[in-house]
Amino acid sequence: MADNCEKKENHVCTECAYLLGGYAAMFGAVFSYTDRATPGWPVLYIETPEGQVSHHIHPDDVRVYEGLRIPVVDDYPWDGHSNEEKYARIGRLNLRIPKMTYAKPRYGSP
Ligand SMILES: [Zn+2]
Repeated sequence: MADNCEKKENHVCTECAYLLGGYAAMFGAVFSYTDRATPGWPVLYIETPEGQVSHHIHPDDVRVYEGLRIPVVDDYPWDGHSNEEKYARIGRLNLRIPKMTYAKPRYGSP
């Protein structure tokens, strides 16, 4: 697999941040500062029909999500997925999207 921005720098690049905005718009999302190793850096959690995906977002890129009204919640539960599992979920998700009708999952009351 080619280098990916998250593996290299432990967060997604600005371009990927914009692309993830599409998933956030489709499926809803939350920001949560759950990674104690990166205080001040939000993790973007998206509950897709193929399962949860999460991405570290550089603080400078939070602006990318302006207008999507993504709530910040405390201690959002990570389901334990690895990067490999995340990419498998995204791969399956992308195959489903063309024929998908879906309801946004519930994230509770932030
Ligand atoms: Zn990237």
